[in-house]
Amino acid sequence: TLKKSLGQNFLIDENILNNIAAAAGIDQESYVLEIGPGAGALTQVLASQAKKVIAVEIDRRLEPVLRDTLQDFDNVAVHFGDVLKLDLHQIIAQECPPEASVTVVANLPYYVTTPILMKLLTEGLPIETIVVMIQKEVASRLQAEPGEKSYGSLSIAVQYIADPKIVMTVPKTVFVPQPNVDSAVIRLDVRANKKVKVQDEAFFYKLIRASFAQRRKTLMNNLMNNLFDKTKKEHLLQVLNHVGIDPNRRGETLTIEEFAHLSDALSRQ
Ligand code: SAM
Repeated sequence: TLKKSLGQNFLIDENILNNIAAAAGIDQESYVLEIGPGAGALTQVLASQAKKVIAVEIDRRLEPVLRDTLQDFDNVAVHFGDVLKLDLHQIIAQECPPEASVTVVANLPYYVTTPILMKLLTEGLPIETIVVMIQKEVASRLQAEPGEKSYGSLSIAVQYIADPKIVMTVPKTVFVPQPNVDSAVIRLDVRANKKVKVQDEAFFYKLIRASFAQRRKTLMNNLMNNLFDKTKKEHLLQVLNHVGIDPNRRGETLTIEEFAHLSDALSRQ
């Protein structure tokens, strides 16, 4: 029996499985990290194309199932545990040669999409490309640009590190059981060189989260309500003026570059 609470919606469409693997551009030199192999449908496709697949699965009950589906492959290592708690640096070091870079391919459990992506992107792991099936609505947030409805702190946090591109949208009918939402496959290419670089990344993330805390409020109101205390009001106005950002703008109109300037100007003091 599948566990809804673990986001266990398994893929049953051969074409979609092949399209996901193709979007990741895997070849016989590739080291692939799969999160949530489930019953191993995608794992089989990946193992037939890659040098090695490292799969991380939270549900130990799937161990005999995976042993069965993956019996023809000797290039798959399954680690059981919560991907959010496991030390991925250590697992990659254990399973891959020292200079290897890793491609992440997964049909993600939707209830933890954001923390998984943030972990993959911000922990300095040797990951170049991420191709994941996620909720369609989250995929459009990752790809959104300033002024678009779905543009927000997640768009900025991800685009600070990677270039996102939706590869395809996927109907509910290719899953068992069917989820309540439509899905999309998105590819994230981690940039070798950041297009903007902030001095204090922890502060940058706090700043963007605070800036979007209440969508309808101005940047100034959001920052005063969610990041600074009253005594900082004059100072904040001065800094905004100095970097040329109108305090009455809303967060959704600011580009990553503008947030980066603001972050540096505020964290310098
Ligand atoms: N890869 C399979 C497929 O495409 O058919 C299954 C995908 S299913 C959407 C998500 C999988 O992630 C499930 O097998 C679930 O048990 C696993 N999972 C859920 N939470 C997890 C976590 N925190 N760490 C690792 N795996 C998790």
